[in-house]
Parts: sequence; structure tokens; C-alpha cells
Amino acid sequence: MRRRSIGFNRLLGPIAVVCAPASLSSVNQGFVVPAAHASAQSALQHTVLGPAIFAGVGVHTGAHVRVSVRPAPTDTGIVFVRTDITDQDNRVPAAAEAVCKTQLGTVIGNAAGVTVSTIEHLMAAFATLGVDNAIVELDGPEMPIMDGSSEPFVQILDQAGRRQQDAPRRYIEILAPIEVVDGDKSAKLLPSSQFEVAFEIVFDSPVIGRQAVDLVMTEDAFRTELANCRTFGFAHEVEALRAMGLARGGSLENAVVIEGDRILNPEGLRRPDEFVRHKALDAIGDLYVLGAPILGRFEGRLAGHGINNQLVRALVAQPDAWRIRTFAPELALAV
Ligand SMILES: [Zn+2]
Repeated sequence: MRRRSIGFNRLLGPIAVVCAPASLSSVNQGFVVPAAHASAQSALQHTVLGPAIFAGVGVHTGAHVRVSVRPAPTDTGIVFVRTDITDQDNRVPAAAEAVCKTQLGTVIGNAAGVTVSTIEHLMAAFATLGVDNAIVELDGPEMPIMDGSSEPFVQILDQAGRRQQDAPRRYIEILAPIEVVDGDKSAKLLPSSQFEVAFEIVFDSPVIGRQAVDLVMTEDAFRTELANCRTFGFAHEVEALRAMGLARGGSLENAVVIEGDRILNPEGLRRPDEFVRHKALDAIGDLYVLGAPILGRFEGRLAGHGINNQLVRALVAQPDAWRIRTFAPELALAV
């Protein structure tokens, strides 16, 4: 696994962020390159082979939710469907402009105001396992938190299997740096021929301190380096959230909880730097609302769901900083 130290360049100030960007398809044209530049597996879109059905509890609502991940046609993207809602539009496509809250996880919504919360850990699994198209039916407002990581979703998608589809996968190739800065937080995308994810966190906590991770983000790297890293929180924050009616489903079963200089979970950490690895996992899921995998390098510093989505919106608003690339051989021949 290639690693390198992170060198973050600070910009002079925050860049403008467009709040209602156009969709990707309307701001950039397709671009085709020879198939030799990509493996056959990654050149075409994929969906799940069969339905994957599971259930669990939402970390904030505490609601027990049943989920069915189903195959979807080419160019569908990832679409959440609230089966508990029948009197208004219950389809919520995962898209950059659909992200409506980022305070305690990523929430997407549609024009009818129907929302789905805490999508990021499943989205990270879709992104890295190469699932372009899927319908995610759920009968409640929030995705189950499972164990607080992406590993259960990886296992569920493995059980469902994947099916190659007859359409080229579209990659977002970063051509020029895009950065969002908010105080000491920053998130940026830089040109690279592969998807790389680097993250750095600094917490005034002896349990966390400064942690950094820098990975070439292949499917294997996600499985071995990030997938099982859990979300985390501080005991005093959990109490405050509960007082606000949030974190109702949160427990030591689905989050690492820190109190002072110790971790309350009896099993301890899965990795010494589980915290920063989970932040990298979150960023991968948050970027995938773009609807396509990225050929480029992500660098996050102290970033969270909010600034990740600001970066996504900044990208959509700067169409000259990226282009869509495909690697499908049939299209290369047609050029
Ligand atoms: Zn998370």
C-alpha cells in the first residue's frame, strides 16, 4: 500500500460555493479514451446481481428499518425509495444537490421534502465495490447504522453479488485543484490518474491526538484498510445529543465512545487509528453523491460531512476543473 505524508496548502480563504448547482449531466459532456487505459472490470457499469435484504436501527432516530438493495438499470445511479411513504414522491436519488443536512451524518432529500438519513457508510461501500446502479428501498427515515462501519454493507453486497451492465462507467477526472476551506478545516480534490484518499485529524483528546491516513483507494484497499472502521463520539456529546432527541439508536454496539482518556467499548479499537480511517470512509461515501467514481486525489483536514458536501458542490460548479471519462471499448471503437 502506497503511503505518503500529507502536505496541505492553505488557500487564502473560503471559495464560493454554489448552493443549487446544475446536475452533472447538464454541465459536462462525455469523453472517451481507449480501453487499454482501464481494466475491463472497471470500464462498464455494475449493479447488484440479486436483492440484498437486511435490517437494523437508525443511530439518530432509533427506528428499526428494513432495507432491500435491488438491481437497477444502467444510468440509474443510487436511488433510495422510502416504502413507508405512499402519499407523495418517495424516491430520493443520491445526488450532489440532494444533500440537505450534514450536521450528524449525510441526509438527502427530494423536492417533496422526503429524506433519507445517514447514507454515507452504505454509499462508501457502493463507491469502492463498484456498484453504479441500485435501488435502496427502506421503510423508515434513516439507514441502519449496523456496527457503525461499512463492513456489514460490504458483506451484504458481497452476498448479493454484482452484475456487469452494458454501458460505460463514467469517471469524474479531476483536471485542476478544487478546494474548500472553513477555518482550519479543508477538503480538496487534486488531479491524479487514480482515486486516492488522504485525511488528517487533530483532536484535543489523548485517545485520538493527530492521525493521518493516505491510501490509493482500490476496492481491496477499502476492504482491508477502511471498511471496518467505526464512527465515533465523545460521551459528553452523546448525552447532549440524547437530550436533543438524537443518537437514540447509538450505543457501544455501533460507535466508538470516548470518555476522557479512555474508550468505553470493552472490545477497544479495531485499529489504533480507527478514527481517521473512519473519516476517510465518510469522505468516500460523501463524494459518491456525485454519481460517479473519481479519478483524482482527495485530501481532507479536520473535515466532516458539511465541508465534504461543499467540496462536491464546488466541483459541480466548476465544470472546467474536471471532465467525464469513460473507458468502454465499444465507445472507443465508435469514435
Ligand atoms: Zn461515518
